[in-house]
Formats: sequence, structure tokens, C-alpha cells
Amino acid sequence: MKKMLFVLILSFSSLVWAALPAPVPLGQFLNTPKLVVVLVIDQFRSDFLIRLQDRFQKEGKDGQVGGFLYLMNNGAYFPFAQYEVMQAMTCPGHAQILTGATADVNGIPLNEWYDRKAGKMTYCAEDAEFGISPRRLKTTTVADEMRVVGRAGKVLSLSLKDRSAVMMGGQHPTAAVWMSSDSSKWETSSYYGKQLPNWVEALNKDLKKDLNSPYVWKTARFEKEFSRGNKLSLTSPYGTEILVKLASEAVVQEKLGRGEKTDFLLVSFSNHDFLGHRTGPLAPEIEELTLVEDQQISKLLTLIKSEMKSMKDVLIVLTADHGVSPKVEDLQEMKIDAGKIDDQELTERVNTTLNKRYGVPANKKWIAATRSFNFYLSAETLKQKKLASEKIQEEVRQILLQQYGVWKVFTASDYQKGLFPPGQLGEQIKSQYVSGISGDLIIIPRPYYMEKEGLMTTHMTGFSYDRQVPLILVGSQFRSGVYSHPARMTDLAPTLAFALGVTAPSGSVGQPLPIFK
Ligand SMILES: [Zn+2]
Repeated sequence: MKKMLFVLILSFSSLVWAALPAPVPLGQFLNTPKLVVVLVIDQFRSDFLIRLQDRFQKEGKDGQVGGFLYLMNNGAYFPFAQYEVMQAMTCPGHAQILTGATADVNGIPLNEWYDRKAGKMTYCAEDAEFGISPRRLKTTTVADEMRVVGRAGKVLSLSLKDRSAVMMGGQHPTAAVWMSSDSSKWETSSYYGKQLPNWVEALNKDLKKDLNSPYVWKTARFEKEFSRGNKLSLTSPYGTEILVKLASEAVVQEKLGRGEKTDFLLVSFSNHDFLGHRTGPLAPEIEELTLVEDQQISKLLTLIKSEMKSMKDVLIVLTADHGVSPKVEDLQEMKIDAGKIDDQELTERVNTTLNKRYGVPANKKWIAATRSFNFYLSAETLKQKKLASEKIQEEVRQILLQQYGVWKVFTASDYQKGLFPPGQLGEQIKSQYVSGISGDLIIIPRPYYMEKEGLMTTHMTGFSYDRQVPLILVGSQFRSGVYSHPARMTDLAPTLAFALGVTAPSGSVGQPLPIFK
């Protein structure tokens, strides 16, 4: 009996030990990379890498490093990493990638929200003093933590979208550069310094020279012509090419990865999202653009390899800020329940109902603003009518719930009282609701129901298709292979912090992934 118990205990404890990742040799742990490259593809669903694998560039072909297949083959690959969000979008996604913090901690739950004090809409990267800055981001990134201990070299954050470059760049990178709103030149804000680096100015001269000249996108399946510098041109490979040119110049001119300290090159490919909103994730155009991204990433990695002489001191991350839903029309054709919800129509219904109940308010508004399924009640109207916000929240909730496609409605009062739905949804709301920023009411739609906003499709939910993204980490410290481990995106920053031997970012809530050799 005693012997049996002993065997039982022994086998139990060996089971526990087997479940723990093997320890990392000290030399390996202390051997930190010289260059961290983070590649984010905006709106990159998990399945792109799997669906298009046969069409990606082979590793090592024509002396090139390779693109997606190189990363998938050589990295710790989590095909379905997850954001714990109730609303997946660009600014919150990019704010989470390198902070490892959820919105309740980092302060960025939405792209845009209604500023109750100012009485107008505001933008996640807006700054009264500098125009654009990361000052609304309340926690640090991995690169910020490296700066704190004097171990960060240069930190360059580049994207077509300002919010992506700003949020990934963290509190104060060496430079954050993005495409101007008229799509004609690279720009930055004075928050980051007085002017753009010289090599960016030189690229701007080239862009100006070619402005308005035709750009032809020719594939076996279609041919399209764009005008360079026109907003639409950014939905084509032109957007990918100029971004990779910018990143390549950064590698060469800033001598990234060749200094004493660790450099960071952060690149977000926004045009996948620009195009994806217009076509949905199943269209030939978005597939062809993914193949361009594959080739352009290979080109960038090949340049890095030739500049650094090898890839052994390079750590690469590939991931996305969020996924996307297929087009409603495509889903309906496949007999899958899907539809659109019209925020404006709902607002009118609320106004009509409450006008009948309480009379028309002086400003004629019960809802001050609506954006991304967040409804903000008019404080002025509530004051004028001497109505408690909580009471009207409940009445508006009942009106919204009558709309098919609206699954649940979460309110500011629910938040104040700690009334969260049970299970996963409750956790998602807790991690993303920010008092004072989030709406007085938030619509949680049914799966595959989305906001009607003039785009073909969108991403704004906490369901799998919006929340799951690929995550790949390539580096000499990692065990490559496909992991079924349920990686959370908040684990990425602590994993990078471990790989760099630095304290995890200030607001990070995740844990290092079990991928270390
Ligand atoms: Zn988007």
C-alpha cells in the first residue's frame, strides 16, 4: 500500500513537472537579441496564413530569407492567439501588442469616443498640444522598459496609420512615422521631435516626384490602375511597397541591430485593413495583397540579414491587431445568420420613444453621440428633464434590445454596480470598459451582426473572427513549432520582456509563453 502511494505521488509529481516548461540555460537567457522586429498586419485573420500557404514564397528561394513560410517554419507559431476584448479595433489592438495591458489599464478602449467635457468626438491619438501623441496611452511598452534601464537603442515605429505607429511606439520612441491624411507624404508630430529624420525627408522627395503617376496592380486574376498619392492607391500593393521602403531605409540609415543596445523596428501594415473593409476577407484582391505582403516581408528580412550578416541576433514577431468578419452577403449566401445594425436608425427610435414619454428636449437630442456601438446619452437633456441617467439607460437598453441582432446591452450603471455578464463576455467587458471614455450603453451584437457604416465589412466584436489572430515569434531563444497553447495577446509583451531580460511593461497582465529553449 505504502509502495503504491509512493508510486502514485511520484507519478503525480512527475506529471506536474512534465507540464512545466524546461528551464532555460542561463547563457541562453542572458544572450539577448540586438534587434526586435515587430510586424503587424492590420485586420489579419488567423486563417490567411493557413489558406494561402501554398502560394507563399519558399524559404531561401533566390537567396531571399522568405516571408510568411519562413516565419511559420522557424517560429513558435500560435495560429489562433486571442485578444481578450469585447470590441476589436485598430487603436486598442496596437495599444495592447507591446504593452501587454488591456484597455482598462492602458486607457485605450476605442479608436474614437465622445469627449463628454468638450461635447465632441475625439480620437485615441489626439493631443491638444501636439496634434498627435501617445499621451492617452497610460502604460509602458517593452521598448519603454528597455529605455528605463538604459538598454534600448533606437525605437522606430512606422505605419500608414498614425494611431498604429503611435500606440506601438509607446511613450517616447526615437521616431514614429506615418502617412499624411492626404496620402502624399510621411509625417510625424512635434511630440517626437522637431523634424523627420533626413532619410524620411529624402523618401518624401521621391514620393512627391511620383505623385499622381499611375500605379498598375496586375495579377492573374485582375488588373487595376491607381493614381499614386490618391487615397485609394493605399488599398493596393503601392501602400505595402512604400511602407517596406520606409522600413528598409530605417534599417540601413539608422544601422539597426548593429549598436551596443537593442533596437526596435515596429511596422504596421495598414493597407490590409484599408482593402479588407472594402472587399471582405474572402475576395481575390485581399488574397493577392497578402501574397504581396509575403514578398515584401521577405525583402525586408533579406535586407536585415544582409546588413546584420546573420539572423541570430534578430527577434521577429508577426501578428495582427484584430481579425474581421466575412461580408454579410457572403455569410447569408452560405445560410449563416448575419446582418447589419443601423446605429442611426436606432438613435432615431430612441428619440421618438423618449420624446413621446418625456417631451422633446431643448437640444432635440437624447443621444449626444454614437460611435462603434457606444451610445452616449445627452447629459444636457437629462439635466433639463431632471431624469436620472440610470433610469434612462435602462429605458434605452430596452429599446435597443428590440432590434434583432442586438444580443446584449451593457450600461455605465452595470459597470458602476459591477454587474457583468457571466463567463467570457463578462471578462471581455471588464478588460475593455473604461469609465468616462466608454459609452453609457454599448451594444453587444449577435455573432456576425455588425454596424452599418458604409463599409463592406468590419470588426467590432469580441467574437472569434474578430478576436483571433496569428502570433509568431522567431528567435534563437525560442522552440519553433505550432503551439495549441491558448496564447493571449497580453502574453506577447511579457514574453518579449523575458526574452530581453527586462521587467514586463507597467500595465501588463499576461505571462511569458512556454516557448523558451
Ligand atoms: Zn479596420
